[in-house]
Amino acid sequence: MSFWEPKNECMSRDELRQVQLERLQATLNRVCRNVSFYGKKFKEINFRPEDDLTEIKDIERLPFTTSRDISDSYPYEMFAVPLREVVRVHSSSGSTTNPRVVGYTAQDLRTWSNLVARILTSSGITRDDVMQITYGYGLLTGGLGIHYGAERIGASVLPTSVGRTERQIKIMQDFRTTVLVCTPTYALVIADRIEAMGIDTKKLSLRYCICAGEPWTEEMRAEIERRLFVKATDNYGVSEVMGPGIAGECLEQSGMHLQEDHFIAEIIDPETLRVLGPGEEGELVLTAITREAFPVIRYRTGDVCSIIEEPCQCGRSMRRISRILRRCDEMIVIKGINIIPNLIGEILQEIKGERPVFQLVAVREGHEDKLEIWVEVTEQLFYDKMREQKALVELMCRKVANFIGITPRIKLVEKGSLKREEGRVKPFADWRGLSDLEPPLKH
Ligand SMILES: [Zn+2]
Repeated sequence: MSFWEPKNECMSRDELRQVQLERLQATLNRVCRNVSFYGKKFKEINFRPEDDLTEIKDIERLPFTTSRDISDSYPYEMFAVPLREVVRVHSSSGSTTNPRVVGYTAQDLRTWSNLVARILTSSGITRDDVMQITYGYGLLTGGLGIHYGAERIGASVLPTSVGRTERQIKIMQDFRTTVLVCTPTYALVIADRIEAMGIDTKKLSLRYCICAGEPWTEEMRAEIERRLFVKATDNYGVSEVMGPGIAGECLEQSGMHLQEDHFIAEIIDPETLRVLGPGEEGELVLTAITREAFPVIRYRTGDVCSIIEEPCQCGRSMRRISRILRRCDEMIVIKGINIIPNLIGEILQEIKGERPVFQLVAVREGHEDKLEIWVEVTEQLFYDKMREQKALVELMCRKVANFIGITPRIKLVEKGSLKREEGRVKPFADWRGLSDLEPPLKH
């Protein structure tokens, strides 16, 4: 097991708490002075960082920052430094609200690449590797975030960016890629295509798959490892807080180490906003304690996970978070029933042992709301025989109805036809004229 910064990654918990407290203190002083959003909020609750922060737990007195707050401060209102000190700007796409714009100083970029380097090292990657990065290289943080960390450790980087799967595979063959960086579903799309192209996966040089960008399961990990002959690790980032590099798995593959000397993590109940204890499942809240340009305080990530207190076999002292189970807001409400796409995925997966690519679609007929499940057809899941296909659809329908109390309509669609963003199918689309009018299929 190797380390990028062994001294920091393995510091004692006492030492870590001291580092966190000092950095939090400095950050709160700065945002109170330089970011009017926080200056006002702190004043409202009569919180003076220099007097009122004596232990890390005092953070619980502070208000949360939401993605809405960041949208509302579009574009630069929440920056804590003048724009001339900002050397990079990233931004979310933002469909119904203003995009969320995040800035980085030169020091922020050094910290960022360093933290990504830690995670890549903990996933087994070294300067001898050839890394193919299939994330978008644009305003989103995925591509460039991993890229700079990979260069930092001295790996050879292939910035192939998203899409064009056959070209990705050709590059993988010709350039002897050893590490594939992608979303877990894209890893499986690549595995499918490799097989369809008649390529012997064993002849590729792949050794590792660095996965992130969407909730996934142990079953998906097992499938990626089996079909691509790799070791697959999970890592986690949030653009508003930094990007990739916030947490990542070591080769123990049992939860993602939080970079606690740079971020303070809390888990809250998203309904009551109460702070939950270790092991309890809830929304992850992050405070950035070393960011210069954009230090967010108690940012509600919307991602549901839990914190693992037990020490890891690898020797890192940083606590871990479980895999991201779902988004708190990834819920569709039909006829007053809350439906979590991930749970539907689990039900569908039980039927044939394979999780199909699917999207929940809410439609309105007259005054009645209906749930449709659009499922992409695969060779393994559906057969040519109409009778068997029909039986399978009926079984899916019944299982889902038993579980959620609404009978869905299952629609089979062609493989690869559901619209993807960053290689990922959005878990639901609302066609009831309430919000999202985007059709689920690619044009
Ligand atoms: Zn570990």
